Amino acid sequence: MQSVRCLADWTRRSVLLTSLAGYGVGLSPEAMQAQRGFASRDQFFAADSATVRLKLGATPLADSIALDSVVRAAIPIVSAFFKLSADVFWADGQGSSAHPTAGIALDRSRLGSMREEMEATEFSNVVLFILGHEFAHMGQFRHYPLSRLRTSDRRRLFECQADLWAGVMTMHVITDSSPKATPDTSQKGLEQDFFRIEQAAALAYQIGTPSWEELSEHPPPLMREECVVRGLEGGLVLRWIHYYDESHAASWASLIAAARSKDPRLPGPSSDEWALTEAEATAIVDSRSRTASSQRDALDRVVASIDSGMNGFVNEAAKGLPFVHCSTTGDRTAISMTCKDSIPFSPRMQVDEYNRLREMARTVTIPRGWSEQSEQLLDAGRWTGTSFLSPDRRTSLTIHYRKVANRRRDVFLTMTVKSRI
Ligand SMILES: [Zn+2]
Repeated sequence: MQSVRCLADWTRRSVLLTSLAGYGVGLSPEAMQAQRGFASRDQFFAADSATVRLKLGATPLADSIALDSVVRAAIPIVSAFFKLSADVFWADGQGSSAHPTAGIALDRSRLGSMREEMEATEFSNVVLFILGHEFAHMGQFRHYPLSRLRTSDRRRLFECQADLWAGVMTMHVITDSSPKATPDTSQKGLEQDFFRIEQAAALAYQIGTPSWEELSEHPPPLMREECVVRGLEGGLVLRWIHYYDESHAASWASLIAAARSKDPRLPGPSSDEWALTEAEATAIVDSRSRTASSQRDALDRVVASIDSGMNGFVNEAAKGLPFVHCSTTGDRTAISMTCKDSIPFSPRMQVDEYNRLREMARTVTIPRGWSEQSEQLLDAGRWTGTSFLSPDRRTSLTIHYRKVANRRRDVFLTMTVKSRI
């Protein structure tokens, strides 16, 4: 019962948070002014520490303010995990960022508004996750030449690697600080740990990035989700390794071995963690990029199939689209293919995924002369959707999502072909 109540609370709060802490909301005109100092990530990197601090309006963390204390308490934990220290300062309304010499800037205005909306434990997990992500960037500055980190085609890779590290670290810290002396390896215990970090990651996603970051270079939602989840899995195994190192108990060794036999990419006792996270991030970014183009190609084939009549459409729809769950239903009057894309994280991610699918639908239908209908609210505002209509108006393609959902946040793509009868 406990967890059911938590899930309901979580959903309600997330919806509230989206309206408060969505991308860009809370950027004051002053902040926008200050950000003009950095037109690009290159300019940001090239600036010296003093310039960065000046342009971001750096303010030191205070001793007496509650929000500052939460961040202050988390810094040594994160710093110990990454075995490096960094100056952490406030940059109001600027998003969070890491700079090789200036250190880590956190957005006080966005963090502050989140803190008011959630419980203390939940908020400290969010702070851990965000610090983990930024400390991972500081680690990258030490492990890779700056020229490599600056290259825009590798930006997704290094953002994914930072999310992996943040997932690993948060899982490690949260589970280690739980009251139990040894980790709870029951299915229920693992699910609870995962859920706590998913919450933190979902909220960190809503905080967003500085405006000088080129958004197109960032991992799209599903890619980012995979980066975090892989980090959590890695963190779980890392925790088992940690307990094995201390106890040398055969039970931990067999847990590690079992996890790695199912998934050889998970860390082992002697793994090089930077090489491992880089390889993992590369694999995710590559496979997700392929996902996007193969999904578009498949949708293109389904849309093209209507030219060869109802049977052609039924045959093509039966193959579905890759990486989403599709099914076909219908009768003599109309046939529909419905595909569901399931997202475990934040409402913000759900909206981003809806926009991605809508953009994909545009690129497939508009060149064929289809028309895009204006976005609609359905079912008393519980659903949002956009439809595309074929020139003969017999076929529609709709992308829609339910605005209020449980933990899974689904986005749907439905294509309906009306029979000529
Ligand atoms: Zn980042």
